[in-house]
Amino acid sequence: MTTSKGFIFDFMEQYDYENLFLCQEKSLGLKAIIAIHDTTLGPGAGGIRMWTYETEADAIKDALRLARGMTYKWAASGANMGGGKCVVIGDPRREKTEGLLRALGRFIQRLDGLFLAGPDVGTNMRDMEILRMETPHVVFTPESWGGPGEPSPATAFGVIQGMRACLKEVYGSPDLQGRSVAVQGVGEVGEHAVKQLVEAGALVTIADIVREKAEHVAAQYEVKLAHPEEIHALNVDVYCPCALGAVVNDQTLPELRCKVICGSANNQLAEDRHGDLLARRNILYGPDYIVNAGGAIVGADSLYPGGFNRKRAMEAVSRIYETMEKVIALSKEQSIPTYRAADLLAEQRIAMARQVRAV
Ligand code: NAD
Repeated sequence: MTTSKGFIFDFMEQYDYENLFLCQEKSLGLKAIIAIHDTTLGPGAGGIRMWTYETEADAIKDALRLARGMTYKWAASGANMGGGKCVVIGDPRREKTEGLLRALGRFIQRLDGLFLAGPDVGTNMRDMEILRMETPHVVFTPESWGGPGEPSPATAFGVIQGMRACLKEVYGSPDLQGRSVAVQGVGEVGEHAVKQLVEAGALVTIADIVREKAEHVAAQYEVKLAHPEEIHALNVDVYCPCALGAVVNDQTLPELRCKVICGSANNQLAEDRHGDLLARRNILYGPDYIVNAGGAIVGADSLYPGGFNRKRAMEAVSRIYETMEKVIALSKEQSIPTYRAADLLAEQRIAMARQVRAV
């Protein structure tokens, strides 16, 4: 997207956005953007990202881009949610106050359920509690509030389901016993993934740029430690990126020796063409938003009548296995890379919902 004159409406038209709201509360220092992409399946739901953007245009672009990503994530996951995202301009460590969050909560309340909020980079569960004081339109609340609590264990569980489906395709069995897995980043999701992988009998190697964290996790789960610069290049069955995005790029791609890439990190492909190159190299890619939807799926469960039900929510997360199978089948049927098959699956579900409404 360019930032030339008129970029907002042009971009919204190009990708069929529904709404873009600018929220300002001068006295409390709030400057926020709420982008709604597509509400065919349900209200626009997504996290609140608080970040110090260089320009307002950057913040708007990020909100729009992330909201569209949520449309696809929800659609492919089987949840009845649409794509939305909120971006707050500011440094969460210095500028995030109760007043700012409550002012944002009032804006969300005025949207009357068009946008449903959850945590993202720069916001946490405590912030959701504060928002909840002003609006019920918050999908993630702590366990003590009857909500799902931290999303990362469910996200890790979903990643493992996606990984099993990939292994079934490549090796004929979804079993993790004896499979080698390289986990990049052992933060919230990565550490839970390591625990679940070890329990399933996988041979795990980890790396994290925070050395003490990596050593701690390696000792706790008795797994091997690698250098952060070489983790993607290990000769393993699965490379599991759980740190940053753009890890499949021109530099890393020729070094990859895995058969499967399946991890939680968002936007793993630096560019779409890297997904094409993976397919050409016969490396099966579990598209990020398919396999990392577990946390979002448990959040969505809170909206059912009667509120959150962990058993039902985790059953929905376990279906990431079937979703990944569908992505693989579609990719083979249409001879397209899996990242493109994931988009197609999401687009097909939205088209189906439009058809149902038209009846
Ligand atoms: P986190 O910040 O808790 O953990 C990330 C870890 O990666 C940290 O320990 C960090 O030190 C490490 N790291 C950063 N750069 C690295 C590098 N180059 N090499 C090795 N390690 C590196 O974040 P998280 O919540 O665990 O999320 C991980 C990824 O999954 C992110 O991309 C996030 O957007 C995505 N994701 C998370 C969730 C969730 O439920 N938390 C849901 C969907 C997607």
